[in-house]
Amino acid sequence: MRVIVDECCSGCGLCASICPDAFDVGESGKAVPRHKTIPEYFQLEYESAARNCPEQAIKIFSRV
Ligand code: SF4
Repeated sequence: MRVIVDECCSGCGLCASICPDAFDVGESGKAVPRHKTIPEYFQLEYESAARNCPEQAIKIFSRV
C-alpha cells in the first residue's frame, strides 16, 4: 500500500497528533507521511488517519 497527502491538506496537524509515528507536519505546513510504502504493521494507523482527516487529504492506494 502507498500513501500520499494531497493539496487539500490544511495543515491542521490532526493526523500527526493521532498517528505521530506515521505523519509529520512539514515546513510547508502540510502533513508528510513518514512512509511512502506503508509497512503492514502501520496499515491501521494510516487508515485511521485517513478516516479522520477533516479534508480527506490522505489517500491510500492498494498498489505499491
Ligand atoms: S489531518 Fe488531514 S488536513 Fe490535517 S494535517 Fe493531516 S492530512 Fe492535513
